[in-house]
Amino acid sequence: MDMNTISDFDPGDVRLPGGHFIGGSPVAGGQWDIEVNRPSDGLLLGAVPDGDADLVDRAVQNAHQALQDSGWDRRPPRERARILRRWADLIDEHSLTLGRLEAVSSTRPIHDCILHEVPFTAEAIRFFAECADKYSGDLLPTRGGSLGLLAPEPYGVVGAITPWNFPLSMASWKCGPALAAGNAVVLKPSELTPFSTLYLAELAIQAGLPAGVLNIVNGYGASTGSALVRHPLVRKVSFTGSTATGAVVMSEAAHHGMKPATLELGGKSPQLVFEDAGDIREVASRIAKGFTSNAGQACVAGTRLIVQRRIAAALVEAVAEAVAELRPGLTWQAATRYAPLINGRQADKVHEAVQASIAAGARVLTGGDFFEGTGGGFFYRPTILTEVDANTPAVRDEIFGPVLTVQVFDDEDEGIALAGHPVYGLAAGVHTQDLGRALRATRALAAGTVWVNRYGRTHDFIVPTGGFNGSGVGKDLGRQAFEANLRHKSVLIDFD
Ligand code: NDP
Repeated sequence: MDMNTISDFDPGDVRLPGGHFIGGSPVAGGQWDIEVNRPSDGLLLGAVPDGDADLVDRAVQNAHQALQDSGWDRRPPRERARILRRWADLIDEHSLTLGRLEAVSSTRPIHDCILHEVPFTAEAIRFFAECADKYSGDLLPTRGGSLGLLAPEPYGVVGAITPWNFPLSMASWKCGPALAAGNAVVLKPSELTPFSTLYLAELAIQAGLPAGVLNIVNGYGASTGSALVRHPLVRKVSFTGSTATGAVVMSEAAHHGMKPATLELGGKSPQLVFEDAGDIREVASRIAKGFTSNAGQACVAGTRLIVQRRIAAALVEAVAEAVAELRPGLTWQAATRYAPLINGRQADKVHEAVQASIAAGARVLTGGDFFEGTGGGFFYRPTILTEVDANTPAVRDEIFGPVLTVQVFDDEDEGIALAGHPVYGLAAGVHTQDLGRALRATRALAAGTVWVNRYGRTHDFIVPTGGFNGSGVGKDLGRQAFEANLRHKSVLIDFD
């Protein structure tokens, strides 16, 4: 869909899918007491039921049985690929419906949903569909008279848990590789943003995915999410969210069946800018987008600017100018580019971190508070903090808001040292025209992804994403995500 066809819409006109989604249909189960609010204005949008452990059991048993009945795991990989490609095509065809569902309940403006989120979701599923018959295990060089094989096979039922910041694409990153590899999936979306995921599952069935091979359960993380991780028939877990919750998930996965967990967690990613980075305005635009996109509610947000002294003042001024143009708007208005924070709790977290940083000696160059006159929505002004160090809360902690800290260095080693973080290692930006310097920094940085002279993901899904250290274990995207949804059986056959 092109930009000219994106228009304002009335959120009251959006039909919300209801219930959970099990066995190919919406089902009730649990009290309908999870209220979903519109982040743009805080008004009630609708409700979904809170699934308890019995409901999770029903969804997982159904998925397990559906695998056996449909033989999804044994079907020719190209048939699985065909169904997943059809699903991706339906996602594109239903772009307006999906985009609107995403825009009313998440923080993503309709412009971003239609132009980025929905096509990104469809294309990620196509990428994983293409993996279905491109991976073949191994023929092992064993002793004479025997045949040694490393045979990949799906796990069975994969439990997936997604966050609220990019509901659709996160669902595609979990479901795409798991389904392409022949697993069934039971997915729990964030209770803040369940609707687009429910619709995505309806489209999967329309595309020909056997009923039950993708089930969605709604509920809270600590109860529903935890029951899903602990379920004995869930053989693998894939989670995106905070580092603290990731640790709980990993521990529960270890104590309930010793199942592998792919964990895509938090970050505090540096933007390391050397004095030879090139055009200051161009670099400033990258830095500005890196911390204000989705109002900073992105795991890979580039929130720590580490800049060489000679260009520091000019760059920081240019970043401040770039973000000064951002204006809040309702997510259902076509002109809106700047996202609200998801809810009051997240708003408090962002503002408290800024206040604590100021109390610790930080200076506010711009921002530092909410936009005024935005009704019930929480829109935080892009904020730049200077005079900070490693102990400043905004440097140390993941805030998940549009807050950039600035630290200045003199030489390469000092810059690289400042870019390190004691906990997180998700992503890093390196900006320099000197190839040797870029490669030295890339080698030295403990980050799962390093972007050089750019910042942010592309449609190159072949590039995996995932963190080092406290930022996670394993990869989403790339061949690695597909392989992580397979376990390998060693087979030795004597024939002499
Ligand atoms: P959480 O990590 O708590 O939530 C992410 C997902 O995990 C949600 O679906 C959540 O459900 C679920 N969950 C929570 N507890 C458990 C559990 N014990 N077992 C299984 N699943 C669980 O993040 P929040 O939404 O609470 O946000 C808090 C902070 O986390 C943010 O401020 C940000 O710093 C970080 N975050 C990082 C993300 C990333 O992309 N890496 C994404 C989202 C948040 P429920 O919503 O019902 O609690």
